[in-house]
Amino acid sequence: LVSRDFHPRPTVVKVCDVSIGEGKRPVVVAGPCAVESEEQILRTARAVKKAGADLLRGGAFKPRTGPHTFQGLREEGLKLLAKAREETGLPIVTEVMSPDTVGLVAEYADLLQVGARNMQNFELLKELGRIRKPVLLKRGMSATIEEFLAAAEYILAEGNHQVILCERGIRTFETATRNTLDLAVVPLIRELSHLPIMIDPSHATGKRSLVPPMAKASLVAGAHGVLVEVHPEPDKALSDGPQSLTIPGFEALMEELRRLAAFL
Ligand code: PEP
Ligand code: MN
Repeated sequence: LVSRDFHPRPTVVKVCDVSIGEGKRPVVVAGPCAVESEEQILRTARAVKKAGADLLRGGAFKPRTGPHTFQGLREEGLKLLAKAREETGLPIVTEVMSPDTVGLVAEYADLLQVGARNMQNFELLKELGRIRKPVLLKRGMSATIEEFLAAAEYILAEGNHQVILCERGIRTFETATRNTLDLAVVPLIRELSHLPIMIDPSHATGKRSLVPPMAKASLVAGAHGVLVEVHPEPDKALSDGPQSLTIPGFEALMEELRRLAAFL
């Protein structure tokens, strides 16, 4: 179902009034790694909206490596995201980690994210296949393209065809960057599948200074959008501070992307 052979024309995924997968204009998803407080998410939401972002991201359920770190505000975080949407009009993207919370997250989110660590959580994928909201499926950090597309297939097979793929870097021998951005998946996925493909240069690099150049490279490679982490005070972030852009940094990136988009 995910293959171009089955569906030659590109799929356009609609998230509220934002179309992903058509035209030349790439979509920008921006926001903090995690929703931390009302002040933090509202401040970020206003700033990214003003700078021209299309969707607001923020984790309420966080898949952290260890159990003693901030795990997210859970439903309270979802409520804060809804408040930010109400104020800015930005549709919201947030992660869902388990099949039993799909209903809850779907009540609030406009686009449900499956994190890299859950790419092969098949019960979660099946549950997401049964809802009627779009899904952003991130590539597992050690998943092949075949496994990535097979994971998307699980969602489509249950009847939900509104799936966006997202490359977020893979594990390699290299430790100078958090992950290795596999940019070639963009043209490759576009050859193999009709589903839109986005890039997350924040998790792919783990380093703030590398995010703008990789975001630009993503668009040149043909990505339908980018997902970037932005925090009003990255030094105080409860997760992923080192890779989060500051608000001025995000504004500068948006300006560069606008100029670049004119050439695409
Ligand atoms: C995230 O988007 O905050 C996240 C946890 O990403 P990933 O699943 O790609 O690590
Ligand atoms: Mn993060």
